[in-house]
Amino acid sequence: MRLSIFLCWACLVPSVLAAKGPEVATDIAPVHSLVARVMQGVGTPELIMRPGASPHEYALHPSEAAALARANLVIWMGPGLTPWLQGAVEKLAGDAAQVALLEADATIVYPLRQGAQFGEEDHSAEDHDHNHDHDGVDPHAWLDPANGQIWLRLIANELSALDPEHAGIYADNAAQGVAELDQVRREIEGVLAPLRGLKYLVYHDAYQYFEARFDMPASGAVSDSDASMPGPARIAELREFTAQGGLTCLLSGPQTDPRLMQAIFPQGAKTGILDPLGIDIPPGAGLYPALLLDMAKGYDACAD
Ligand SMILES: [Zn+2]
Repeated sequence: MRLSIFLCWACLVPSVLAAKGPEVATDIAPVHSLVARVMQGVGTPELIMRPGASPHEYALHPSEAAALARANLVIWMGPGLTPWLQGAVEKLAGDAAQVALLEADATIVYPLRQGAQFGEEDHSAEDHDHNHDHDGVDPHAWLDPANGQIWLRLIANELSALDPEHAGIYADNAAQGVAELDQVRREIEGVLAPLRGLKYLVYHDAYQYFEARFDMPASGAVSDSDASMPGPARIAELREFTAQGGLTCLLSGPQTDPRLMQAIFPQGAKTGILDPLGIDIPPGAGLYPALLLDMAKGYDACAD
């Protein structure tokens, strides 16, 4: 009798192991956050990129490569944001299922913006040394919370296909996450309501999804969406633009070059931080809603 009870416990072990969720690797902290929200109560995804590093240029650490190699599922923005990751995903996680969120049918995407001044179709091509691809999609699509909501459902579907045992939990978590983001969107509307019509420049052209969702259009950008450094012609154009347009505020990511600031705003300017990756927020399910709300609060720096 005792023996059979013992054996029965032993036979439970494999099903306990099977109850662990799939190994999921993610690229940037906001994507990691959405996946963590859907996996709550089942498992925890891996964050491949060190928080705070620029996704536009990056080198994988060995531990990060190992996490990719362990993954059953890789969920990432796609090569539009992190072209360097494509080869690593193919080489290290070739057998894993893969979701590139920028390429999902339901994702809301906008074309790349070009140039220092937005909404100006007419400025002549001659004074620009632009020679890059004018096609392509702006990869910063997570800054529209509507995409976050679309992706929560998509992530739940992908996880359920891989791990049907926990499909109910994934679906419930995604539904709760969508409702939380509805609430965050209302909060952001409230924070931004008194700031509508603000004129400002952004440093890195990373925010058009947020600008469009919440009707807070920027006047221009110092650096394009790919985070390339501006050339002397662009800096000169910006200096003239800020002086003539009465632009007195720059919103940037956590890193800004003070010499560039001085060159663009010789008259001085207010500055605020719009952190698109949530560098100061602990990684996890709460990061994504917190980073969106922090972005909204960042606009306050430009208020009179
Ligand atoms: Zn960027």
